[in-house]
Amino acid sequence: MPLTSSSPVTALKGLGPHRAALLAERGITTVGHLLNYLPFRYEDRIHFTRIAELVPGQVATVQAEAESGSLVRFRGRRSAMFHLNVKDPSGKLAVRFFHGAYLDGKFKPGQPLVLHGKVTADPNRPLRIEMINPEYELLHPGDDATNSADVGRIVPVYEAIGDLSSRMLRRILFRVIEDFQGEIPDPLSPELLRRYGFPSKREALLRVHFPEKSVDVGLLNEFRSPAQVRMIFEEFFLYQLGLAIRRLREQQRAGIPMQVRQDKVREALKQILPFKPTAAQKRVLADIAADLERATPMSRLLEGDVGSGKTIVALEAATIVIENGYQVALMAPTEILAVQHYLSARRIFSSANYFVELLVSGMKFREKEEALTRIASGQANFVTGTHALIEEAVNFAKLGLVIIDEQHRFGVLQRKRLTEKGKSPHVLVMTATPIPRTLALTLYGDLDLSVIDEMPPGRTPIETQWRAEENLPGVWEAVRRQVAAGRQAYIIYPVVEESKQELKAATAEYERLSKSIFPKLKVGLLHGRMRSEEKDDVMEQFRAGQIQILVATTVVEVGVDVRNATVMVIEHADRFGLAQLHQLRGRIGRGAHKSHCILVAPKNVTEEARARLETLVATADGFQIAEQDLKLRGPGEFFGTKQHGDVAFHMAHPLRDHKLLDLARAEAFTLAEDRSRSAELEKLTAFLGPEWQSKFRLAAVG
Ligand code: ADP
Ligand code: MG
Repeated sequence: MPLTSSSPVTALKGLGPHRAALLAERGITTVGHLLNYLPFRYEDRIHFTRIAELVPGQVATVQAEAESGSLVRFRGRRSAMFHLNVKDPSGKLAVRFFHGAYLDGKFKPGQPLVLHGKVTADPNRPLRIEMINPEYELLHPGDDATNSADVGRIVPVYEAIGDLSSRMLRRILFRVIEDFQGEIPDPLSPELLRRYGFPSKREALLRVHFPEKSVDVGLLNEFRSPAQVRMIFEEFFLYQLGLAIRRLREQQRAGIPMQVRQDKVREALKQILPFKPTAAQKRVLADIAADLERATPMSRLLEGDVGSGKTIVALEAATIVIENGYQVALMAPTEILAVQHYLSARRIFSSANYFVELLVSGMKFREKEEALTRIASGQANFVTGTHALIEEAVNFAKLGLVIIDEQHRFGVLQRKRLTEKGKSPHVLVMTATPIPRTLALTLYGDLDLSVIDEMPPGRTPIETQWRAEENLPGVWEAVRRQVAAGRQAYIIYPVVEESKQELKAATAEYERLSKSIFPKLKVGLLHGRMRSEEKDDVMEQFRAGQIQILVATTVVEVGVDVRNATVMVIEHADRFGLAQLHQLRGRIGRGAHKSHCILVAPKNVTEEARARLETLVATADGFQIAEQDLKLRGPGEFFGTKQHGDVAFHMAHPLRDHKLLDLARAEAFTLAEDRSRSAELEKLTAFLGPEWQSKFRLAAVG
């Protein structure tokens, strides 16, 4: 039987049930799926570097044979180092593997192998070069024959799947491609291929696995070979097409046009404003007001750094909607934040006489019933809450605007469930994880984008320092001084209770800090496992200044706004992500007093943790931090695959490939919006995922 995209992987020789099961766990059951499992790196195994020519600092691939190996154990330590000596005709090379016990006995003398890694100089003997923890691959004797998958060509390197190593995957794919007979339908039209000079889908896919010998390996590793560029373009194109369709569908729905230019709205807006808005806040409100006036529902993303003043803009938008006789729902990811929004909305709306309602799951049954009744009758004008808002029992009389705060904490589905509580209400989502524009287009490309790029006046910059644990006494002294000057402090721990991980825990440290370090001060404790009333109570006391030092976990990460708090100490700072640290730090620096953030972490942390901590010390700009975060983590993790599963690209990288993203987006949106090209669009839906396909059908019927 000829091999085609739909052949099951079990049709491949040498792929038994165990391997098939491993592949199936990754959703790979057909040859087509397998072809879409793409390499993440390439090695030039035509031109190996000769050992005699290696220089420190270089990343090189050498072909060699094993001479001898030995396991070296360190006294008193559990780990062992494996020393391997290899040679090629030009010289010898020492290789060391940390935690290398598993390698003992693996390399027989004379075993041919390929090593890929960074060349370093032995610190004790600078003339001696070595490789530490290189990637290695054992070759079979005689493997340099011309039809080997592993040498004599530019070889692809794949991420291993369970115990299916990169090499096994390479061999499987090598055979697949040799025997492949099938067609591979091309989502890009001949017109597009011609215009951009792209290879066909079939050619690109085969070349991405096994590039021609003439292609420069550097180009391949930058993902800039013609085949890769085409594949990346295609991924963006289809994704953006999905977004374009979703957007088109939104725009075909009848919304609720609001009257914005009337005196009573102007009056109400003037009434509620506690301060002079920044130019950025004004501009963004103008965007929103223009959307609200339209006959199609608003779907807008409001981006702004931590503390840039998004809340008041949201409350202004709410004012317009409430003056038009509609209700507003604001959903926040944590109870603490929902309560805080409730309190500030009550304060800000008090002069306007709007009824402000709170809905969280920790409420008493009676309270909740009463709240639900007021929401259903329309008496509640402004409803703020947590996920409790999307429960079945919640019914709005006239929902006109949905606001989602800290959107990154919610999935698209939750957003949808809240909007379905009204008849095509306007939607405003706010994010406090500032992301570069191209990324915003990727993640939220069906939304219009407004950015607050200016901080409210009167802020003093936060000073951030990295301190080792030995310096804690001095840190506590600094906290004491700030509190004596009337300020308040946060002290953050990564976990609630002590565990095997040997991390300091909030509860235990609270005991210690309140008893022995700050016995004369009022210290409070806040973490996610406390009951709602307890949490509210502690937050209330902290807001009122009755608690001077708040020991907390990351429950205070988002949104909490206490201006008098000017110190934040984060212990085990190396255990937190970059975005998370930026969020945490955003709790201070909100008033006129100078703020200090102290990151406590050992000086010998991992390279990545060092990069994170140094970034924070160097800059407070959320956009810069987000970009750095993305570089350090890569797009998959940055997006958090769980929540944004539909943005898992195979090869495309929104930051690296932002130019292709822009191109693909323009092509996709032009196509989707051009009614005369509907047949072309129709054909393309076959290439979209099931979620997009159903969207398309809805869009097609209007
Ligand atoms: P975020 O964008 O992080 O949600 P907030 O909306 O919580 O920020 O605003 C941060 C703080 O700045 C709040 O205390 C808010 O009252 C204050 N603030 C917002 N806008 C202004 C402004 N134009 N002038 C002065 N203070 C402002
Ligand atoms: Mg906020």
